[in-house]
Amino acid sequence: MRPGDTAAKAAWMGNPQGGVSAPAAVILPNPATRFRRTADRLDALAAGHPMGEWLAFLSQLSLAQHAAAGSFAPAGANAADIAKADGAGLPPLAADGYPRAPVWRQGLEILLDHVARRSALPDRAAAVIASLRDRAAPEALADDFLRGAVAPEDAGRAMFIAAALQVYFTHLAGGLDVAQVPLLPERGLCPCCGSPPVAGMVTASGSTPGVRYLSCSLCSTAWNHVRAVCITCGRSGRLSLKSIEGTNGAAKAETCDDCHTYAKMFYLGQDPDLDPYADDLASLGLDLMVAAAGWSRHAPNPLLLAR
Ligand SMILES: [Zn+2]
Ligand SMILES: [Zn+2]
Repeated sequence: MRPGDTAAKAAWMGNPQGGVSAPAAVILPNPATRFRRTADRLDALAAGHPMGEWLAFLSQLSLAQHAAAGSFAPAGANAADIAKADGAGLPPLAADGYPRAPVWRQGLEILLDHVARRSALPDRAAAVIASLRDRAAPEALADDFLRGAVAPEDAGRAMFIAAALQVYFTHLAGGLDVAQVPLLPERGLCPCCGSPPVAGMVTASGSTPGVRYLSCSLCSTAWNHVRAVCITCGRSGRLSLKSIEGTNGAAKAETCDDCHTYAKMFYLGQDPDLDPYADDLASLGLDLMVAAAGWSRHAPNPLLLAR
């Protein structure tokens, strides 16, 4: 089952004709729609937003990711190329140490071309893009990024590297067979690539209402995670939900006083057009509010390392 095969929302909302049924444990991404959907949502959110200009730039970046994703062979055709993790219990695309094929840099080039062509770039961004045209730099930066060890001076370049790796790993995940992707014992990590999620979404209606899915920050896979359990430490005794007063409550921070982290959750019942990737970026105000009160985010958004 892949979101976007028929309608983008079908996988989240369930089949309206069907009864309530067991939720799918894992929903693989559709690389043909994933980035376009985020671009459209960012575009819609940018209008009238205090950070509208920045969101519009990120919408352009998502469109560039969409173009890069379209340059790869259709998902599934390359399934034979997907390296299988040897160790039992490792996810199939274990991100740290995955043998990247050179094609990921082709995606990076397309992405850089699109951003350079479509955006009025400040000089600093133009210099960042120029420095990524070099052959060696992207591989070293990609290794750093996938190990969670980006140096502060590389944060600007890391945004483009992260964006290109999202395209590549989403392409790989889209080619997997969902039957071969069991949930990990560490339920807070992606069953395809082992990365943390960007945020969670709670479904509203359909055959599996009120179910929580976490959305992978790297490969765009969504996986089921029981609600009211901290996605970081697995405890449930000291969780609470916080939202910004005066909003519709579609974006909430789930804070945990056992491990002092929080993760953002989005509620489709409050807003059926939500996209976890776009809405995470557009709800930075909620991060600032919760961080000021002392909780640390469970994991960064890969496009925001430069913050
Ligand atoms: Zn993943
Ligand atoms: Zn916790």
